[in-house]
Amino acid sequence: MSGLLDRFWVWFSGGRRTSFAVSPSSLAVLGRQIVSTQEVEFDCNDVYRLLDQFAEAVLQGENVEPWMPLIRAHLERCPDCRAEFEALMRTLRTAKA
Ligand SMILES: [Zn+2]
Repeated sequence: MSGLLDRFWVWFSGGRRTSFAVSPSSLAVLGRQIVSTQEVEFDCNDVYRLLDQFAEAVLQGENVEPWMPLIRAHLERCPDCRAEFEALMRTLRTAKA
């Protein structure tokens, strides 16, 4: 599980693009709540809410790969949420270390 988080961190750090195998079905389940109100893009409130759930999922050892495209879509355009997410990732890495 820590390996997955490390890969996520690599992705987030922008070190290199990692290809993730995203299951369409899991993505559909995960994104239903948000996609129902936002076609593709999230606003900041959506992302903050998503990050809370994301942190929960990571700490519980769940597969978070399907979250990546959803979160990345916003973070690539929003420095505020990116900073928030970066802090979250540091916290999670510390918690799991
Ligand atoms: Zn934002």
